[in-house]
Amino acid sequence: MRCWAVDAAAREPLPGCRGLRRAAVPWFPVPWSLLPAWTGCAGRRVEAAGSKQKNGQREWQLARGTPSPSVVSGVSNHRHQRKGNGVRSSRLWGKLLGCEGTVIEDVDWCEEDSGDGSGPALRLIVRVRPHKRLAHRCGICGGKRPRYDNGQGRRRWRALDLGTVRAYLEAEAPRVSCPAHGVITAAVPWARHGAAHTRFFDDQVAWLAAACSKTTITALMRISWRTVGTIIARVASEAEAATDRFAGLRRIGIDEISYKRGHKYLVIVVDHDTGMLIWAAPGRETKTLHAFFDQLGGERCKLLTHLSADGADWIAGPAAARAPQAVLCADPFHVVSWATGALDEVRREVWRTARQAGATNVVRHRSRTIRLSSGDAKSLARARYALWKNPENLTGRQEAKLAWIEKTHPYLYRAYLLKEGLRTVFKLKGDEGKHALTRWLSWAARCRIPEFTELAKKIRQHLPSIHATLDHGLSNGLIESVNTKIRVITRMAFGFHNPAALIGLAMLALGGLRPALPGR
Ligand SMILES: [Zn+2]
Repeated sequence: MRCWAVDAAAREPLPGCRGLRRAAVPWFPVPWSLLPAWTGCAGRRVEAAGSKQKNGQREWQLARGTPSPSVVSGVSNHRHQRKGNGVRSSRLWGKLLGCEGTVIEDVDWCEEDSGDGSGPALRLIVRVRPHKRLAHRCGICGGKRPRYDNGQGRRRWRALDLGTVRAYLEAEAPRVSCPAHGVITAAVPWARHGAAHTRFFDDQVAWLAAACSKTTITALMRISWRTVGTIIARVASEAEAATDRFAGLRRIGIDEISYKRGHKYLVIVVDHDTGMLIWAAPGRETKTLHAFFDQLGGERCKLLTHLSADGADWIAGPAAARAPQAVLCADPFHVVSWATGALDEVRREVWRTARQAGATNVVRHRSRTIRLSSGDAKSLARARYALWKNPENLTGRQEAKLAWIEKTHPYLYRAYLLKEGLRTVFKLKGDEGKHALTRWLSWAARCRIPEFTELAKKIRQHLPSIHATLDHGLSNGLIESVNTKIRVITRMAFGFHNPAALIGLAMLALGGLRPALPGR
């Protein structure tokens, strides 16, 4: 027996170690640097008489790093060696790899190049075939069909890692002939149609995508971000087909969101009552919205009571045509964001004036001369968030910045108060809100800030729908939070080349479609 406190460098036994220690085990190597803190007897070992020759070389590997894992024997070999145990063993493999309704033929391992420059790595290969009743089924409709040919021959599916070793399922992938779907690769019980990963693997990636950062998923699962996108789209589309998201829909919010440079937009539909994202599609046109109403169906369109939007014509037109009974409300989030936009215009104008008044430092960078903001201009450039955020969420520093603006730039502070005034209107709601809006409009009309005078005109144009919002009390907070979260997701999903992946990610995170972790 050897003590934890093994000296990796000394080959000769050291003088006996006093006190009781837990014996060293080969599956838990102890880094040499940790030993003194753990044991208090660094550099000593306890050795049972006669064990030196038997264990010798292997035990000395302890302090050199993780030894290669011991590798399992094949299921079929195992069955021959220990009669009657083979069935239990294959069931265990089925559970481990998430392949039920599957016959495990053999388990093997090999060393293969990982392709990422880290050299050959251990691979666990489990040869499988679908159970007879699940074999030769169409990959789309799942019906039992006659076999057509061998397809591409044997292929592999990546399964969840077993410990630190990558695991793969290997099986035949024959094609079947389906009267509805033509000649198509047969379905397999352990993976989704057209997938290169098992269901367990897909589900774990989808679960992680809705919870962690890009780097965490790609490093943990050892796949590229693009593969994550493909998996998300696959899992989300399956979950969408299996759930009825439109049941009981009464109050909806429609919005557009830019997801890529070059005017690429998504239309999103949110349920006001649950706060869930229920539909999203690429585009920003009348036909995109008609596609939503088509999917919703005539009967359910008639059940809609309220529809909130930002006042764009491409929403108002189809909404009036398909759900004329629904009250069109102005989305409070958008109305307040108009005011935020106007406030930012004012801030930039004040900043420009400060720069023209000489609040700049001239710096030479290579062959160019750059005028950097200094003094007031610098403070104004950094005041954007203090002005933009809701006062209840301000940090101490931002509060101080706001107090500075109040004292030094009254014109800009007046614009800030106008923005906050409009936000209060939507907080009040009902008749009180309407009354506050009337007073706000007259204040904005004579405030002598052109941006806000324009805004007052715009709000007067949308007055009926804003009044409807105040009457029916549509919550701003809910839409605002969904909007903010989708914006975060679009930034995160920038590497996805396919909008289906972005929509999938949004549906997983905000549409309640996140799958459970495998085996839970
Ligand atoms: Zn079919």
